[in-house]
Order: sequence, then C-alpha cells, then structure tokens
Amino acid sequence: MSVEPELISIDDSFMFSCNSGLDCFNMCCKDVNQFLYPYDIIRLKTNLNLGSEEFLDTYTIIYAGGTTGLPVVSFKTHPANGHTCPFVGENGCRVYPDRPSSCRIFPLARAISRSRETGEIKEHFALIKDPICKGFQENSTMTVRQFSSDQDLAVYNENNDTMIELISLKQQIMPGPLDPASKEKFVLACYNIDRFRSAIFNDQLIEKHQINPELYERIKTDDVALLGLGFSWIKSELFGGKPSF
Ligand code: SF4
Ligand code: SF4
Repeated sequence: MSVEPELISIDDSFMFSCNSGLDCFNMCCKDVNQFLYPYDIIRLKTNLNLGSEEFLDTYTIIYAGGTTGLPVVSFKTHPANGHTCPFVGENGCRVYPDRPSSCRIFPLARAISRSRETGEIKEHFALIKDPICKGFQENSTMTVRQFSSDQDLAVYNENNDTMIELISLKQQIMPGPLDPASKEKFVLACYNIDRFRSAIFNDQLIEKHQINPELYERIKTDDVALLGLGFSWIKSELFGGKPSF
C-alpha cells in the first residue's frame, strides 16, 4: 500500500519515537529496497572493516537506474527471507552508528532544490506515516530540525547533495544511457573508493601534478576527501566540467 507523504517544514514538530519495545521493532528493515549513496558506502565499509570492493561484492547489487541510466547501488537481499536487510539482527541494526542516510531519516523524506543564480540549496521535507510504524503513537515530539540533528544527518546530506548535483548535471548534459566505459568510471570514483585510490596511486589514473599537493596527501587515507575529488573527476571526465582538485 502506498503512503501519501505529508509536507512538513524544518521547524514544524511531529510526534515520533523509535524503540525496541515496539511491536514493529525491526519491521522496517524487512522488504528493503534501498539505494546507497557513495557516503553511505564509505561509512558501512569502514564499520565492517572491509575494503570497498569486498563490501560491494558481498552486500550489494549494482544496476543501471531507470531514469538516469547511471549505476545505482542497493543492498543485496533474498526473497527467501522477505528481502530483509543483511544487517538486521535480533537486537536491531548491526551497523547502527553507520547506518545509511535513508535509514536515519525515516520517517521523513528530504528533497532539495538549488537556485540557478546563487547555487543556494533549499530543503523540502515530507512525513511518511507508514501504517506498519508504531513510532507515531509514542508520546515524543520534536521538530524536523531537531530530528535531523539527532540523526547526525548533516554530513550525509552534504555528501548526498553533491551526488544529486552530479546526477542532475548528467541529466541536463547527457540524458539517456551511459556507455560502458563511463559507467565503469562512475562506479570507480563514486562507489569503489579504495579501488579508485589504488588507480590514482598505483596506476596514475590522475597524474600527481594535476592534484593540489595538500589534497594529494589527504586522499592517501581520507575517504571523504577522496570522494570529493572523485565527484569532481567524474564531472570533468564525463560531463565536461572543470576539474577542481
Ligand atoms: S542498515 Fe540497519 S537500519 Fe538500515 S535497514 Fe539495515 S538493519 Fe535496518
Ligand atoms: S517501524 Fe518505525 S517505530 Fe518500528 S522500528 Fe521501524 S522506525 Fe522504529
């Protein structure tokens, strides 16, 4: 059954609390069909102490998104267990401190619009009152702003918004499917971050002199800085933008 989202502003309040005492505990981690953003993958693979390639191979599937043709990453699930998330355990989420943004933001949804003149981002929110979720009956009220802060969403939003910008740039410049070589580059820089690092340092995918020296040192160990470089590299390689690294 589809649920009609209710628009809500950032300083509006809503009643909600999620806890393990509720009948619905873990129910929202079943029948999942979740896209993972590049930053989600960095957090999850770090939590699990895996390289990005091993994480992607073990826990995800990658396919071409219907609207954009860009590679999309989702959790690998099985019909035998009702498409349950691979990380749900009896006591809840096994990767809770590093759970993906879509898990953190539930029961809200967030969209953004960007001013063409200034680039300023405007956030839009909606409340998804899924009938399986008993959290709406709990006597706890907070604003969207408080909820977002409690869920530590700022760092996720910042990185996800850059990805959204990249997707909309692709749609403006190159609507339709991507060629296989471009798809490979997109997966490498956005999702397979450890392989991207190795391609830079071992295969000279980007020559050292093209990268700001301070950034060159940082990306040896800093996945988020490397992701920022990756976004910029994709912009220039695929969509004709000016590299800024
Ligand atoms: S990552 Fe955690 S919170 Fe998200 S669906 Fe899986 S078990 Fe649930
Ligand atoms: S269904 Fe709602 S209240 Fe229940 S565990 Fe999931 S988010 Fe929490």
